[in-house]
Parts: sequence; C-alpha cells; structure tokens
Amino acid sequence: MHEMSICESIVSVIEEQAMVQSFDKVNMVRLEVGALAGVELEALKFSFDVVTRGSIAEGATLDVIELPVSGWCMPCAKAITVRERYDACADCGSYQIQITGGDELRIKEMEVD
Ligand SMILES: [Zn+2]
Repeated sequence: MHEMSICESIVSVIEEQAMVQSFDKVNMVRLEVGALAGVELEALKFSFDVVTRGSIAEGATLDVIELPVSGWCMPCAKAITVRERYDACADCGSYQIQITGGDELRIKEMEVD
C-alpha cells in the first residue's frame, strides 16, 4: 500500500524536525494533499495510525486539507481550478488547460509540545 510509505516519510520528516526544533510530542499534523496526488484518504489515515505507533507522533491527529487541481486556461488566459485532470474550464468550457498543480503532498503545519 502506497499510503504506508507516504506515512513513513511523513514520520521521518517529523522526527527530523523534532531534533532540529527539540519538541518531543506531536499532537496534530496538517497535511495538504492535492487531488492528483493519488492518495486514498481513508488508507492514509489508517496508515498514519499504524506508522506513528511508537514514534513521537503516536496518537496525533491527522488533518488533511484537500487541494483542488490548479491549471491555466489558455482561452481565458487565467489561473483556474478544476476537480479532475481532464475537466473543462468552468468559465469557457475549454479543455485547453495546462495543469499547474494538484499533486501536492506536504506537511503544512504541526502542533507540538
Ligand atoms: Zn477558460
């Protein structure tokens, strides 16, 4: 399961930060996950609970912020957001969209002690 390895890398980032910023308990981790990141949120939350066991993030809440797909609509010449990679522009109906974001997967913030 790909979510398991994502959570393992999240935990290693947390542990690295814990050393740098010297905290020893994480209460909440807020993650930004783009719609194109290919992450199953239920699986991610489950994996997070499993992977954090015995780490400083054990028992921490995982808060996920889902980010839409962002793109550039060429006919409109402006930045737009769409729900999926092959959606049309909501304003002009064009499919001439260059995808610029939506595959984010990063820790936005943490609450620590
Ligand atoms: Zn458009």
